[in-house]
Amino acid sequence: MTRSTATLITVIAGFFAIAGPILLSLYLAAQQAETREREHVLGFARDVVGRSDRAAEQFFTAFERLMQSAGEDPCSAGQVSKMREIDLGSSYLQAIGFATGNKLVCSSLGSGTAVQLELGLPDIITTTDTSVRTNVTFPFAQGIEFTVVERKGYTAIIHKDLPIDVSTSVPDISLATYTPDNLQTRSTRGDIKPEWLRIVGAGEEVSFIDDEFIVGIARSDKYATIGLAALPVRHMADSARSGAMILVPIGFLASVILVCVILYTVKIQQSMPSVLKVALKKKEFYLEYQPIVDLKTEQWVGAEALIRWRRPTGEQVRPDLFIPIAEECGLMPQLTAEVFRLFTADMAGIFSRFPHFHVGLNLSPQDIQSPEIVGLFEDLAQATHAKPGNIMLELTEHGLLQEEHVSEILIGLRSKGAAVAIDDFGTGYSSLSYLETFTLDYLKIDKSFVDKIGMHAAASQVVPHIIEMAKDLKLKMIAEGVETETQAQYLRSQGVEFAQGWLFGKPMDASSLVSYIGKTRSAAA
Ligand code: C2E
Ligand code: CA
Ligand code: CA
Repeated sequence: MTRSTATLITVIAGFFAIAGPILLSLYLAAQQAETREREHVLGFARDVVGRSDRAAEQFFTAFERLMQSAGEDPCSAGQVSKMREIDLGSSYLQAIGFATGNKLVCSSLGSGTAVQLELGLPDIITTTDTSVRTNVTFPFAQGIEFTVVERKGYTAIIHKDLPIDVSTSVPDISLATYTPDNLQTRSTRGDIKPEWLRIVGAGEEVSFIDDEFIVGIARSDKYATIGLAALPVRHMADSARSGAMILVPIGFLASVILVCVILYTVKIQQSMPSVLKVALKKKEFYLEYQPIVDLKTEQWVGAEALIRWRRPTGEQVRPDLFIPIAEECGLMPQLTAEVFRLFTADMAGIFSRFPHFHVGLNLSPQDIQSPEIVGLFEDLAQATHAKPGNIMLELTEHGLLQEEHVSEILIGLRSKGAAVAIDDFGTGYSSLSYLETFTLDYLKIDKSFVDKIGMHAAASQVVPHIIEMAKDLKLKMIAEGVETETQAQYLRSQGVEFAQGWLFGKPMDASSLVSYIGKTRSAAA
């Protein structure tokens, strides 16, 4: 990744870190407001149904009682006094009586012609033989409209607005009760669009937004009554605003935290090169050596040098973490120079004592960019008294492909006695034709393929091909990451000469390595 793409990514991440949580909190506030207001409006609709149901309960119970005690004359003195008693005891009924035709002949208001009242024709007759008159006025209560419910002559008078006499604290609310069979309204307040009445589902509650209104509809589960409530959508905006007052500051806080995290990460990233430079200066790096065995004898015949970084705090930083950063900021040549220096210090006399031993050193693509590496290698070989083949340089396929003058540089290195290995083989482009263009000595079979040995996975079929390819190119093979006896046996049977892995030895310090050189696995165990 180049620096400009890194900056671009940081800017984009920063934008989302700031805008993201704030936009999200606004969105959440709007969502919550909608849920809240739908529930609010449904609550009013339920209230309306509840009041209407309680009134119905009272007049139907009253009718029942009056029917039971009625003798020949439904307007007898006894019945009329019972009507009064019922009227006094019920909170929702204005009066209760008996009607013949469209005339109330006696009631809790009294009997005789003075209180005989004209009711007019019924507006609604329900399926339960109940008739409803929705707009009845009486001479004794000018300007007030009543609802009159009648069954088998027994009649109840209630205030028309009784079911919708709720929530007067919300002035712009619209309320209605109506009958499901014919969608005829019984009482209404405010603006009610006729199409809303048709929306109710059987036995359900619904809420919806229609243009300017949030509408809630609830149906009674006992009586033929539906309640409707509608609020202007501006209530939702008010509710969203007050929700946002809480959520946006939280979103803002989250933005601040995210931006801080991004800035901190960027700072660490940017400071990594200088931290690496300081670490090089303070000599915080050291080498470990992982043994390479001859698969036939299991003797330790070589090793790979692996860089390690121990911070002054004691913290170990893994090479696959800091090497990509060193590569990105062009510090690899310095790091490789440090590896050469450490190797010289660790292994000064090793090749004099063990003339057939070989040690692999890893080179990065940057190291083989310039012919300078040839001179550096020459110095290293001299300082360690290495003979040709004692030092192996490991290069990845990626590195070989990336750099322009690799071929000449490889020729230069080999002329100074370096053996060259292709590292992590199989993970890159691995085409035979390009491998043929370089003169190489070893091929390291990547751990990911060794892992698949003995499994039925498709990848396990790749190992025989890699081995064939190495044989065609006359390359010696080193299998990496060998962890099991099965893997070792298979590789041995296929003619792979060398192996490296935890089965034989983990990376260790130079003196441990030296003490086991030439010995077999059982001696080292
Ligand atoms: P690599 O060159 O493929 O090195 C082999 C890695 O596999 C090492 O990890 C080693 O410890 C690990 N390994 C060996 N045998 C086994 C095994 O049986 N099981 C498992 N699970 N792992 C095994 P390490 O030391 O963490 O190095 C990681 C990578 O860092 C190396 O991969 C190499 O690409 C890079 N590296 C390490 N040292 C240097 C160096 O001095 N210079 C350069 N340029 N790169 C280095
Ligand atoms: Ca390697
Ligand atoms: Ca490797």
